[in-house]
Amino acid sequence: MRMMLCFCLLLLVLSATCTVLAAPKQTLVILAGNVWDGLADAPQGPSEILVVDGKIAAVGKTVPRPDGAKIVDLSTKFVMPGFIDAHIHLTGGSKVIANLASLNDAALALVGVSACEKVLNNGFTTVRDAGDFSIVAWVVGELKKAVDAGDIKGPRIINGGHMISAIGGHFDFGGMIRNGMTMDQVSVAEGATGLKRAVHNEARHGVDWIKFAGSGGFMSPSDGPEDLSYSQEEMNALVAAARDLGKPVFVHAYGDEAVRRAALAGVRSIEHGSLSSVATLEMLASKGIYLVPTQIAVVANARETAKGNLNMNVSEITREKNIKYAPRVLECAGNVAKSNVKIALGTDLGTYDFTVNGAKEFGEMVLNGLSPLRALKAGTSMAAELLSLNAGSIAPGKLADLVALPGNPFDDITVTEKVSFVMKDGVVYRDDR
Ligand SMILES: [Zn+2]
Repeated sequence: MRMMLCFCLLLLVLSATCTVLAAPKQTLVILAGNVWDGLADAPQGPSEILVVDGKIAAVGKTVPRPDGAKIVDLSTKFVMPGFIDAHIHLTGGSKVIANLASLNDAALALVGVSACEKVLNNGFTTVRDAGDFSIVAWVVGELKKAVDAGDIKGPRIINGGHMISAIGGHFDFGGMIRNGMTMDQVSVAEGATGLKRAVHNEARHGVDWIKFAGSGGFMSPSDGPEDLSYSQEEMNALVAAARDLGKPVFVHAYGDEAVRRAALAGVRSIEHGSLSSVATLEMLASKGIYLVPTQIAVVANARETAKGNLNMNVSEITREKNIKYAPRVLECAGNVAKSNVKIALGTDLGTYDFTVNGAKEFGEMVLNGLSPLRALKAGTSMAAELLSLNAGSIAPGKLADLVALPGNPFDDITVTEKVSFVMKDGVVYRDDR
């Protein structure tokens, strides 16, 4: 009994301490020159947004102004929901990829800290990490904890863990480093039992989603984008193991058959899908499976390749694959635009450097035939729907994630690359006014 009392007292002291440490969030009234709520077909015009305790409390032509509320004057700006990147690699970058054999996890963590700050600064308030570059550790999980604790500045992170990969598959770094070298990489797995073990191993390290490579890729040395890493039975086993633990699954898949198998297995989103047939796109649409087409990473490259502007910063084997598949990648991008598939924005940042602003993906999607509305939704409300996130739109009760732009992105989509104000959870992280 006395022990119980002591324990209760300890809890009381702890909770009192926590209350002191957690600074109360400000009540803010944002005066916006124009607002798009992330859902409507067109912007709503001049509006006010009331933010209380990190959430949107009201939005309209005028909102209540509680005592002590701070006014944030964005009356010359266009305000919309914070961007969501559903496909990023926070521990990546060209230096990481070039030095996989020599970089340790501390180096990857430092890369991630820097990436987090850049990404948030560009207006991305939530990201889903699509593959930790660590061979044996869960670095992205530590980044997520550091952001949540306020120790580093960064977007809200949804942790996809490692990309579970077949031997010689897209994320088997042993093949990327040196022929014949063996490596104890936690996420290389095969067979129904092996894949179940890999899923359980990711889950016990606290990941939010399970990611796997269903096909080969352009940058991996020992497979091609149409190669199949796993049988239908293996994919079914992986997705079932994840489902039993309440984890949604996303799949790296370029070739049509890999996309089709993963869709049949029950994944929630297809990443890239850049060689999908029209029939497979129709299947994704009918099953409500999301597509994250990562077009600045894939389609922009195919367009340049088709013009004869070859990327000389990649290996010869990658260049050959780029040349071979460029026409079909471009054709598929056109079919994606014509399809009814639910599209969420993903940049694949980390497979190239974080000096690139991921918001370029909005413009790239429009260049490939998506309407500005569909592209803008892809990076806000549709991505939030994919990620089951209470954000991505401006409505009472939603997390107060907002960005301000110098103009209307429905008129010029590239203004998404000129963010001047970033709020996440009601806290202002960037304000260039
Ligand atoms: Zn990726």
